[in-house]
Order: sequence, then C-alpha cells, then structure tokens
Amino acid sequence: MIREIPILDLKAQHRILSADLLQAIAGVLEDGHFILGPNVESFENEFAAYLGVEHAIGLNSGTDALHLALRALDIGPGDEVVTSTFSFIATAEAISIVGAKPVFVDIDPRTYALDPRRVEEAVTPRTRAIVPVHLYGTPAPMTDILSIARRHGLAIVEDCAQSIGATINGRMTGSFGTISAFSFFPSKNLGACGDGGMVVTDHADLAARIRALRAHGGRKKYFHEEVGLNSRLDEIQAAVLRIKLRHLEEWTRARRAVAERYNDGLAELTSLQTPFEEPGCRNVYHQYTIGTPRRDELQTFLRAHAISTMIYYPLPLHLQPAYAHLGGKPGDLPNAEAAAASVLSLPISPDLEREDQDHVIEVIREFSSALSAA
Ligand SMILES: *Cc1c(COP(=O)(O)O)cnc(C)c1O
Repeated sequence: MIREIPILDLKAQHRILSADLLQAIAGVLEDGHFILGPNVESFENEFAAYLGVEHAIGLNSGTDALHLALRALDIGPGDEVVTSTFSFIATAEAISIVGAKPVFVDIDPRTYALDPRRVEEAVTPRTRAIVPVHLYGTPAPMTDILSIARRHGLAIVEDCAQSIGATINGRMTGSFGTISAFSFFPSKNLGACGDGGMVVTDHADLAARIRALRAHGGRKKYFHEEVGLNSRLDEIQAAVLRIKLRHLEEWTRARRAVAERYNDGLAELTSLQTPFEEPGCRNVYHQYTIGTPRRDELQTFLRAHAISTMIYYPLPLHLQPAYAHLGGKPGDLPNAEAAAASVLSLPISPDLEREDQDHVIEVIREFSSALSAA
C-alpha cells in the first residue's frame, strides 16, 4: 500500500497535545473572558521572555503585525520601504496598506534572504525602513543590515513569520529589529488553531502605540487618540499558544534532526542545492527547501510516489500582477527569479516519521540516477 506523505502533518502534534489543549480551551470557556484576558497577557510575557525582548503585543495575524509595526513607525504615503522580492505577499502588502511604496531588492541565492549590497543600492532620500525576511527559517544577514540601517538612519522591521527560534550568534531573530513581526498561522513553527500574530520591540513608546492601535486607537475605553483597527490575539488562541510555546525548543531540535538527515541523504546529489546555515547561526527549518534546475520534473516524480512538496514561491513579488504598477520586469532581479524557478520544499515537521523521510530521500535519489543514466 502506498502511504501518502504530506508536506506538513499537524494532526500528529495535536493528537499528542490534545488533552492539554482541550483543558486550556475549556478553561477559557469557563472563565468567559474572550478578548484581551489573562491568557493573552501571560502569553505576551512568556513570548517576550523567550525572545529576550522587552515588549510583546498579541495581534490578529502576522500581516497585521507587519502593518501595525510600520504604522507605529509613522511610515506612510511618500515613504519607501526596502524589502526582499522573494517572500510571501504579506510582507509587501503591509507596506502598501500604510500607503508607502515597497522597493523590491534581489536575494543572496545561498540564504534566499535579501542581499545587503542590493539593499544599500536601493536606499534613497525617501527610504524609511528595511524589512528583512528570514525565509524558510534561515536567518537573514542582520549584522550587515543593521549597519546599513545605522548609516542611513532607517528603521528595521524583521519579518519573523517563518523564523521563530532562529538565532544569530545566540541571539534570537526578532531581537535585532526596531520592531519585529511574528505569525501564528497554523502551519508556522509555532502555530495557533486559527489566525494570530505578535509584534515585539524594546521601545516602550512603540509598544504602547501598537497596544492602542490594535484596539481602535484608544488607550482608555471610548476615548480615541487616533484611528486604529480591531486586531487582537484572542484568548482561546493565546491559551493554545501558551501550551505549544513550551514544546517549541523540542520541536526545533526535532526539525533540525530531520534537516540533518536530509542533508546527509542528499549530500552526494551534487545537482541539488541543500539549505544553507552560516556558522554561528541556527536555522529552524520552517521549510526544508532544495534547489534544482529539474524542479518541475522532480515535483511530478515525487507526486507520482505520493509525496507532497510545495513551491514557496513560484513568482517573485516584483512580477506579481498586484505590483504591475511599480513597473517590475522579468530579468530585473535575476537571483530571485532563478530561485522561483528552482526551489522545492520537502516534507518536514517535528513528527515526520524516519521511514517516511527515508522514503522521500530514496525517491529523490532514484530520480537523480534515472537522470544521470539518461
Ligand atoms: C505567514 C507569513 C506572513 C503572514 O502571516 P499571517 O499570520 O498569515 O498574516 C508574513 N510573512 C511571511 C514571510 C509569512 O510566511
């Protein structure tokens, strides 16, 4: 019998935690406090402590976390924000929502993160901030980005939606930026049972501003200093996330063990690019993403063997129809365009069975030897 191997299986995690999760949810139902109650407050404190930052503010989603970070920095119409063209659309959307212009730059093909040299070239007198993305859980080069930001007086908003727990010289991603954004979308390394997000910062004024913005722009009920929105992490999700946060380090270790097994199993296939980990950095492998010029054929071959894979992302942001008005053309940002044509993310989760993973490795090897024989 052929067993389906999904790219991500959340059911295993929820089976293991089900008694704890149901008890936590029942506690919220009994308490009857659904919005901005004790679980949100405790989770914010636990999250800030985990990252080693001063303030954490729970929000509706990672998209709102990025958007409210930019709002709190007073970035808006007439401003430019430099970001990677190789990301999920939400990174750019947040910049557009506040009325600023995303300026897309090319990536370093090893890390898939924005290339600091390209960032420096993209800075103009209108630039206000840089939004680096730690794509796939691989840390972006924050040392270089920090020095560019300092030289030009720019803010940094880290997009940590895929990088919770990733470190650079022992320091967590999300602790480098002026404000950083996290997502608890269910498939993320720390996922809720619904939508959720968080911003973190060491700046008390920015934290207070975001707390007000998430609740209609007021610091006191029914008094509104500015126009805000409704973007709150809810109690049930916070109760779920508090339980999951206690397992995150163990899950990260398990993900890294899976990644190492892939690295070993695929090492001799020299036509594949395996994920990069800079010395001193901890990659948390939100995705285990390989690069190969025969990507589409390999994906079809894996699918025929009941193995699911995904392409994150098939079209860089500068070529998305939503950004056609910015005038991006094929060939403008060649490293990202090459990545979009060659990346493939393999099944990974803390609970991936060893025999399933070995089967994935075997099928990829079979594909490669069929190619070299042909
Ligand atoms: C998931 C994700 C987001 C958006 O998070 P949501 O919680 O889904 O709004 C932003 N940026 C990146 C890189 C992501 O992967």
